[in-house]
Amino acid sequence: MTTYDIALVPGDGVGGEVVAAGREVLDAVARTSDADIGFAWTTYDWGSGYFAEHGRMMPEDGLDLLAPHDAIYFGAVGSAQVPDHVSLWGLRLRICQGLDQWANVRPVRFLPNVPTPLRTTGADLDWVVVRENSEGEYAGLGGRNLSGRGPGNEVAVQTSLFTEKGCERIMRYAFELARTRPRRRLTSVTKSNAQQYGMVLWDEVFTRLRADYPDVETDSCLVDAMAARFVLRPASLDVIVASNLNADILSDLGSAMAGSLGLAASANLDPERRHPSMFEPVHGSAPDIAGLGVANPVGAIESGALMLEHLGQDADAARLRRAVDAAAAAGVLTPDLGGTASTADVVRAVLDHL
Ligand code: NAD
Ligand code: MN
Repeated sequence: MTTYDIALVPGDGVGGEVVAAGREVLDAVARTSDADIGFAWTTYDWGSGYFAEHGRMMPEDGLDLLAPHDAIYFGAVGSAQVPDHVSLWGLRLRICQGLDQWANVRPVRFLPNVPTPLRTTGADLDWVVVRENSEGEYAGLGGRNLSGRGPGNEVAVQTSLFTEKGCERIMRYAFELARTRPRRRLTSVTKSNAQQYGMVLWDEVFTRLRADYPDVETDSCLVDAMAARFVLRPASLDVIVASNLNADILSDLGSAMAGSLGLAASANLDPERRHPSMFEPVHGSAPDIAGLGVANPVGAIESGALMLEHLGQDADAARLRRAVDAAAAAGVLTPDLGGTASTADVVRAVLDHL
C-alpha cells in the first residue's frame, strides 16, 4: 500500500469545516480505490486561535514541519481577531512563498444542474486560471509613514516586483498546460497600458515565448476588458495566465460565473517538486456562515482531486470528480447555490456516488 503523508492545516472559519469534509471524502476515495492507497493525516492547528496564544499564525519552524510531507491540505485563514494582512502573510503567503509554490492553478469547472449567472448554459465551458504565485503585486515590498510629515499626511508605497525568470516560468507552465487540453488556447492578462514597467516586461516575455509553442493559440487581453470578456464571451477562454493580483481577482470572478466561490479549487504548486505543494479552496474563511454547517465543501473536495493528480492518482481524481458531478446533478446543493443541503449532506451524496 502507498500511504500519502498529508499535512492538514484547517485554519480559520469555514476552513476547518470544508477540509474535514474533504478529508472524509479523500479517505473514502482511498478505501474504494483500485490503486491500494491511503492517507496519513497530521493536523497543524495554526491560524487565528494559535495567534491568540502565541502572537504568530504558525510556529517559527512551521515550514520545516511541513517540508517532509507529501502535500499540504489547507482550509482558509482570516478572522475578526487578527488584521487580514497579518493573518494572510503569517500563514498562507508564508507557506506559498516559503515553499516556493510559484504556480497557483485554479480550474473553473461547471457542474451539472448548478444555476449560474450566465445567459447560456455553462456545459461547454472549462477554464483554468494560472496565477503567478511568488512575486508581482504580492511581493510584500513597500513601506508606511514615508512622508515623515505626521498624521493626516501619511504616504504609503506598495511596489510590484516582476522578474524575467518569474514571468517566464509561470508562462511556460501555462503553455505546457494549454498544450494538454483540447482547445490549446492561452490568454495572457496584463494592464500594460497603465503599468508601463512590470506589465510591459510580462508582455514582452509572453511574445518571446509564443515562438516556442506554435501549437498553442494565444492572445493578450487587458485585465479590465478581461473582466467583461468573462461575462460576455466566456466560450473564448481556455487557459488564462496572469499576475498574482489579476489572477486572484479573475479566479473569484470565474468561480462566481460557475455558480459560487464555494466551488473553486486550487493547487499551489512547486512544479520542481523540491517542496510539498499545497491544495486549498479558493475562498476565504467566510465568517458570515462559519459554524452553521452550510459551507459548500465542493471547492475543498475538488482541491482534493487536484492533490490526487499531483500524487499521480489520475484515475481516482477523475472518479472523485464524477462523484461530485453526480451529487450536483442529483440536486444536493448548499444554500450558496440556491439549495438547502448542509455540508454533511453534500459529503454523503459524494460518498454515495464514489
Ligand atoms: P470569503 O471567500 O471568505 O467570502 C466571500 C463570500 O463568499 C461570503 O459571502 C461567503 O459566505 C461566501 N463563501 C465563501 N466560501 C464559501 C463556501 N465554501 N460556501 C458557501 N459560501 C462561501 O471572502 P471574504 O469575505 O472577502 O474574506 C473573509 C476572510 O477570509 C478575510 O479574513 C480574508 O482575508 C480571508 N481570505 C482568506 C483566503 C485564504 O485563506 N486563501 C482567501 C480569501 C480571503
Ligand atoms: Mn483570493
